[in-house]
Amino acid sequence: MGAGPLSKELMNASVKLMPGGVNSPVRSYQSVEGEPLFIERAKGSKIYDADGREFIDYVMSWGPLIVGHAHPEVLEKIRKALERGTSFGAPTGFELELAKLTTDAFPSMDMIRFVNSGTEATMSAVRLARAATDRKKILKFDGCYHGHVDALLVQAGSGVATLGLPNSPGIPPEATGFTVSVPFNDLDAVRRAFEQDPRGYAAIIVEPVAGNMGVVNPESGFLEGLRETATACGALLIFDEVMTGFRLAMGGAQELFHIRADLTCLGKVIGGGLPVGAYGGRKDLMEQVAPSGSVYQAGTLSGNPIAMAGGIKTLKLLREPETFQTLDYRTRYLADELKRRSERMDVPVTVNRAGSMFTIFFCKGPVRNFAEAQTANKRLFSKYFHGMQEEGIYIPPSPFEAWFLSTAHTDDDIEKTIDAHERVLRRL
Ligand code: PLP
Repeated sequence: MGAGPLSKELMNASVKLMPGGVNSPVRSYQSVEGEPLFIERAKGSKIYDADGREFIDYVMSWGPLIVGHAHPEVLEKIRKALERGTSFGAPTGFELELAKLTTDAFPSMDMIRFVNSGTEATMSAVRLARAATDRKKILKFDGCYHGHVDALLVQAGSGVATLGLPNSPGIPPEATGFTVSVPFNDLDAVRRAFEQDPRGYAAIIVEPVAGNMGVVNPESGFLEGLRETATACGALLIFDEVMTGFRLAMGGAQELFHIRADLTCLGKVIGGGLPVGAYGGRKDLMEQVAPSGSVYQAGTLSGNPIAMAGGIKTLKLLREPETFQTLDYRTRYLADELKRRSERMDVPVTVNRAGSMFTIFFCKGPVRNFAEAQTANKRLFSKYFHGMQEEGIYIPPSPFEAWFLSTAHTDDDIEKTIDAHERVLRRL
């Protein structure tokens, strides 16, 4: 089952008006050679396409919908906020409430600034790091994606990797001239880079658990080593927790790994499905942001009341007891079963999981970095993807992305997914 007639019709019209028919490249199904489903509506763990078909959704809008689609309490909160007006361009109590909820969850964040996307968050954090240290260089990791910020679009993981673009035309070499990218999980490479220029780096930016080359966990000591190196050389450690924040735990990867980042970038879950990003961290750093300080950063719709309302209710729902344990347990069961059934059928896979996100790489593994992720069989993934879609299971249309679970996914959804996986593998 590919795109149905209505999805096809909508796509044919969309490609005439929008590049590739989409507003973000990975949605186009280019890497799995097909045409996207047009989504009509969604509820809980299910998504419904323009042709009226139902799918169990593991994309979940690429991570934000951790409490499921159209959660009634989130909708109610948004509805109430809407009735009071959509945007004022002036401060509101909503911003204060979300700021409190966020800084309570992230003890490393004394202060926070809301923006509209993860890209804006990382772009602003890098600007602040450069200003605060009066240095230019940024160290990042191959396969980590930090949004489409010019300076960070180097070896940038899934979206870029699946399109086979090394970087992007339109970014002058000068814009990436101060960016150094080294393999994830390779502390020696980090240390070598800093040895060559110990006082040159403004920051290390990292996805503490990588999600944009598929899920790749940090090896023991890696994040601690980054913390030590940054501190020793006077560079800042920026945790890009756009994907992992409020996903792996309330306080993101830094809560799990007990690392204090100097600056943290957030997005996705913090807006509960509405466009929100944020960056924050140490008070002495954040006070350098305008208007307290001189590092300029602004936004007409930043802190938008509707978006804040969606975030507030989502974070409050996440604070209910056992939420993360249940998500973790369910996802572990699913990931383990998918691996077990694959092995039983002699299909070599590596399943990397962190909390409620995981990736099946079609390769023997291990997958510890971008180069190893790239050994996954893309053709096999493409067939698997279409097979799963035919079975009513909507997974990310790229071999280098994470599946996301939500609190709305039921045992029944999970069993159906495991059975579908087995049938699809049999047909491959
Ligand atoms: N950082 C990480 C770790 C991400 O996963 C993403 C998006 O997938 C971004 C930054 C960019 O966020 P946005 O797409 O909201 O600009």
